[in-house]
Amino acid sequence: MESLDLLWELQKHDSTLKDINNKLKYIANAEKIESISNKLNETEIKLNDLECRLEEDEKRLIKNNSILKELDFKLKGIEKDLYEGTIGDLKQLSYLDKERESVIKEIEEKEVEIFSQMEEMEGLKEEFSTIEKGFKNLRIEYTQLIKEYKVIDEKLKEKAKEEKKEIEILSSKIGEDAFKRYIQLRSSKGNAVVEVIDNKCSGCNMVLPTFILDKLKNHKVIIHCENCNRILYYNK
Ligand SMILES: [Zn+2]
Repeated sequence: MESLDLLWELQKHDSTLKDINNKLKYIANAEKIESISNKLNETEIKLNDLECRLEEDEKRLIKNNSILKELDFKLKGIEKDLYEGTIGDLKQLSYLDKERESVIKEIEEKEVEIFSQMEEMEGLKEEFSTIEKGFKNLRIEYTQLIKEYKVIDEKLKEKAKEEKKEIEILSSKIGEDAFKRYIQLRSSKGNAVVEVIDNKCSGCNMVLPTFILDKLKNHKVIIHCENCNRILYYNK
């Protein structure tokens, strides 16, 4: 292959590699993965919070149930004293009666409190299981997404490796001077080698003289456009 053809090929591979690297960057910053990951973290915090609240409620419920048991026991004692007939003193009996009513009232209040507590816990459990279900689904989606991106990522890296290898091979075949000029043009103009289309330099649109076109058709020499300095390539 002549130097010019090599340069033309080299540029193609350089451009492909540039595309691949851009795609890799996109994957690394994949917004969707990031947003799902954020949502997963938020949901996990919410679930932990609900779990803590449920645990506290459970403790309070146990405590209230034991208070209720004590009150029941107290009531039975009072009623025993009242109805067994062992106490004859009216003053004492009236005191016990009042005590009995007050304990009954306390029991009723405790029962209402326990009931509303159980209702609240039921609601929390429902909320927890709904959020947990969403969390599990999101986790599945996240895992799948990561897997897919990994596959693409590996494929692109593999392709990039192939392109780099091809670039190395081509570069080693091109003469040092031509390669240096190519690198300079790539960095200053983007494209170093430009196709001749309709007898014009496609880099700057200048119409090329016939003798240059004839030379280019042979593909033997490297000719720069007089106007933009890019290397001209006549694609047969
Ligand atoms: Zn030009």
